Amino acid sequence: MLSQVVELIEHKRFFAITSHMRPDGDSLGSSLGLYWLLRQLGKSVEVVMRDPAPQAYRKLPGACEVRTTPTIDREYDAVFVIECSDITRPGLDNLQQQFVVNIDHHSTTALFGTVNWIDSTASAVGEMIYNLCKAVGVRVTREIAECVYTALLTDTGSFHYSNTSERTFKIASELVRAGVRPAKIAEAIFNSYSWNKLTLLSEVLATARHDETGRIATLRQSLEMTARLGNADEDGDGIVNYPMSVRAIEAVAFLKEHAPGVYRTSLRSKGDVNVARVAEKFSGGGHRNAAGCTLYGTWEEAEEKIVAYLHEAIERSASHAGADRLRADEEELTQPQETIA
Ligand code: 5GP
Ligand code: MN
Repeated sequence: MLSQVVELIEHKRFFAITSHMRPDGDSLGSSLGLYWLLRQLGKSVEVVMRDPAPQAYRKLPGACEVRTTPTIDREYDAVFVIECSDITRPGLDNLQQQFVVNIDHHSTTALFGTVNWIDSTASAVGEMIYNLCKAVGVRVTREIAECVYTALLTDTGSFHYSNTSERTFKIASELVRAGVRPAKIAEAIFNSYSWNKLTLLSEVLATARHDETGRIATLRQSLEMTARLGNADEDGDGIVNYPMSVRAIEAVAFLKEHAPGVYRTSLRSKGDVNVARVAEKFSGGGHRNAAGCTLYGTWEEAEEKIVAYLHEAIERSASHAGADRLRADEEELTQPQETIA
């Protein structure tokens, strides 16, 4: 609960903050936002991650101070674990032995902390960090604002996803008031591609296929592509979203070959189609509209399995987003035309 987090911040002194492997905008933005919050209170704090910050987030205030290590090698008063569905997601040895504070907005998260603060109504953990600033009476400086804004911007898909709420915009507006320049942040995050990433994008998009219903798309990134193009691990990030721009597509699976026969899989969906439930079937997790898991076998076996489950998820969804859209189109076409006198 928030009150427990406030209390332990007041009473403890030596903190670490960590988040999941291969950090993204919300995990880094929220971790660094919390870092600046604790610094302002005069606490001793460091951000510890297994993996370095992707290029897109290296300009975030404090990003260069993140310590990259596979092991927790000190005794902290408390370790904040940000945006992780379970204790293994940070990929850090010795984390279990620490006083862990779990801060997350995934509804599927395990209550692995000594203290757990979960708010599944928050569009990003960044929203929770903003609320924490208010609760402990910390001024939202430009540093905090830029970190939290980055979390909001990325976890809402640039304010596109259904987790975007009035509260998200209200907080975003406060952050702009605190000194955020939205164009500067968007430029740093979205115009940060390498040429290799653009080339990878074109090759991965060339693998795009849809199932017989036209509602499910798949994408592949093979080990061969990654090796030949010399791509960074993060270069595949975001490609999963491209097929979502097709009107009829309701779910996408992007399979990235991680080792022969092993595929890290990103899932995306529209409306009520719940891909978190699909990911859970394969020991993964995430949000209703964005989730991930690992698949095994040949390309065909892996795709067949995931497409079958996505199909089921679409059938189960209440709204049948695609059907609704088609109906809307038909209604549009059959609307009586206004006559101009
Ligand atoms: P992405 O496709 O961008 O890597 O991940 C989308 C969402 O799914 C994120 O919220 C991420 O935390 C979650 N996610 C991705 N892979 C896994 C996984 O293997 N396990 C769990 N629990 N969540 C995952
Ligand atoms: Mn998040």
